[in-house]
Amino acid sequence: CSFAHFSFDKLLMEAIRKSEYEQPTPIQAMAIPSAISGRDVLGIAKTGSGKTAAYLWPAIVHIMDQPDLKSGEGPVAVIVVPTRELAIQVFQEAKRFCKVYNINVICAYGGGSKWEQSNELQNEGAEMVVCTPGRIIDLVKMGSTNFLRTTFLVFDEADRMFDMGFGMLFIQDPYLKYKKSSEAQVKSISDHVRPDRQCLMFSATFKQKVERLARDALVDPVRIVQ
Ligand code: AMP
Repeated sequence: CSFAHFSFDKLLMEAIRKSEYEQPTPIQAMAIPSAISGRDVLGIAKTGSGKTAAYLWPAIVHIMDQPDLKSGEGPVAVIVVPTRELAIQVFQEAKRFCKVYNINVICAYGGGSKWEQSNELQNEGAEMVVCTPGRIIDLVKMGSTNFLRTTFLVFDEADRMFDMGFGMLFIQDPYLKYKKSSEAQVKSISDHVRPDRQCLMFSATFKQKVERLARDALVDPVRIVQ
């Protein structure tokens, strides 16, 4: 399989060429044609497999396919990852490919300044957001952004997302408010993004909680095991 099989436009092909990738990785070869055709995808793949580009490139194609794309609104593509470190890493890779199309991409993770992230979202808007679950929920609740035009949703490293949280459904945070468990957070994102969205999910393992999220979030997914 070569990159030419994906029918990407010149700009994306040029950006890929500059990355000095010689050919698609197996997960890219399997996931990208399905993702571009609009199907939901469930990919069982580890870090190092090239899975980030397997969802970033279709996300970019999806964004560029939107008619009358205006800036300053909520994200078209939302990419949910379990940790701040992964959010930053995915954000770096996303910026590299988004900049050739002038797609605005914003990173929002727990531990970073909520006010800065909120201002960025409100002032600039973004076509793509890379985020951790708790933080994007907070930002939506604050009215800093919304999922109104979100039609492309990705859950990356879904199994790690569930490792992060707590076994109970609800735990008490120091401010005596109730905070949702990581599973409830992820489900709440899936529930709040419009049902006609396309959804891609990647996970290194396929345990019960991942299976449950896949059942809730994906419609007739193409299953890919690397
Ligand atoms: P990931 O599994 O997405 O974390 O990617 C692992 C590494 O592989 C990253 O450094 C990517 O930049 C790189 N990579 C992604 N796609 C390709 C490709 N087709 N050929 C070579 N390297 C790639």
